[in-house]
Amino acid sequence: MMSLLHHCSMPLARVVRPSPRTRAAVSFATSCSTRTNSQSQVLLGLSENDLQQLSLSFGQQGFRGKQLYHLIYKRKLRDIQEFIQVPQAFRNELEEAGWKVGRSPIFNTVVAADGTVKLLLKLEDNRLIETVGIPVEDDKGSVRLTACVSSQVGCPLRCSFCATGKGGFSRNLRSHEIVEQVLAIEEVFKRRVTNVVFMGMGEPMLNLKAVLEAHHCLNKDIQIGQRMMTISTVGVPNTIKKLASHKLQSTLAVSLHAPNQKLRETIVPSAKSYPLDALMSDCKEYFKETNRRVSFEYALLAGINDAVEHAVELAKLLHAYGSGYHVNLIPFNPIEGSEYRRPYRKAVQAFSDALESSKITVSVRQTRGLDANAACGQLRNNFQKTPLATDSDNLEPQLPNMDLAVTG
Ligand code: SF4
Repeated sequence: MMSLLHHCSMPLARVVRPSPRTRAAVSFATSCSTRTNSQSQVLLGLSENDLQQLSLSFGQQGFRGKQLYHLIYKRKLRDIQEFIQVPQAFRNELEEAGWKVGRSPIFNTVVAADGTVKLLLKLEDNRLIETVGIPVEDDKGSVRLTACVSSQVGCPLRCSFCATGKGGFSRNLRSHEIVEQVLAIEEVFKRRVTNVVFMGMGEPMLNLKAVLEAHHCLNKDIQIGQRMMTISTVGVPNTIKKLASHKLQSTLAVSLHAPNQKLRETIVPSAKSYPLDALMSDCKEYFKETNRRVSFEYALLAGINDAVEHAVELAKLLHAYGSGYHVNLIPFNPIEGSEYRRPYRKAVQAFSDALESSKITVSVRQTRGLDANAACGQLRNNFQKTPLATDSDNLEPQLPNMDLAVTG
C-alpha cells in the first residue's frame, strides 16, 4: 500500500479496512502508478470506469463517475470548481487530494489569414508546446478541422530542416497533455475537431505509450474515429512493428524526405541507425498486419532533394516494397537560420508529375498559415529558445496576432 500511495496519492489513507471501496481505490491507484511525485493527478485521460472507481474511493456513489466523465469529455470543462453538478464538498476533496482536470492555459495564439491557428500551451512545468488547428472546407462546403498535436517537448532527433529539432529536447508529454491539445483547438474554434495528426513537436514513436493512450482517449472518450487520425514517424527502430501489433485503423505516415540512404542521412541524422531498407520492410509489414496503407511524407528542399531524378528514384524505391503507396509532398517552409530554401512551384510540379507518371499517387500539401510561424517548432522558439525554461526566455504571454497574411 505504501508504494501505491507513493506513486498515486489518492486519499487511500482514509480507507482503513479492506472493503469494496478499498479494493476499488487500490485497483485504481495501481492504474496510475506511472505518475511521478512532482506531477499533478489529472482527470483527463481517465476512462468512465476509472472515474467511477475514483468517485467510490472518495466515498461517493458510482454515478458520480458518470457525471465526472460527462463534465470532462462532453462539457469539456477546464476546472474542478466548474463541476457545479457535483457536491461542493466532493469538488473540494478532489482538489485537496491534488486532482486537477489537466488542462493547460493557452499562452499565445497566432491566427493566419487562411484561418490556421497555432497555439502555445504552457504546461505545469512552464514548458511550452505548440499545437495547430487547420480548418479546411471541402467541395461540398463542409468544414474539417484538423488538430496537429505535439508528442514531446522539443525533439531529440534533430532533423536538419526542423525548428523543433534545432531547439533540443526536454521531455515526453504525458497522455493528457496530448489530449488537451485537441480540446484547446476545439475551444478556440468553437467546433469539434474531426481529424488528428500526430505531426507536431516531437517524434511520436519515442513516446509511444503516451501516444497510444492519447489515441485511445481521443477515440473512445472524445469520439474521434480511428480512421480520422494519423500517426507520423521519421523512423525509430523496432517501433513500427510494435505499433502494428495494436492493429489501429489509423494511418501511419512515414517521413522519408529522400529516396536513398546516403541523402537521407544528411537530412535526417537519426536515419544512420535505421537503414532505409529496414524502414521500408517494416512499412510493408505494417500494411500486412493492419491492412492500412502507409503514406510517405517528403519535404521538398530546393536543390537538395527536389530534382526529377529524386522523384524517379523514390518511385522505384516504393515499387520495390509494394504498391498503392501515397506520397505527400511538403514544399519546405523556410525557418530562421536554416540553410534550406523553399523550392520553386515549377520544381514541385515536375517532382509531382514524375511520381504520377510512375503510378505513385501524390498530393502536394498546401502551405497553411505560412506566416503564422507554421513550421513545427518555430513559434515555440520565438518564446523559449530551448525546451528548458531559462531566465532569458520571454515567458510573458502576448496578445493574439490577427494580422498575419498567408503567402503559401
Ligand atoms: S521533423 Fe519531427 S522527428 Fe525530425 S526533429 Fe522535427 S519534430 Fe523531431
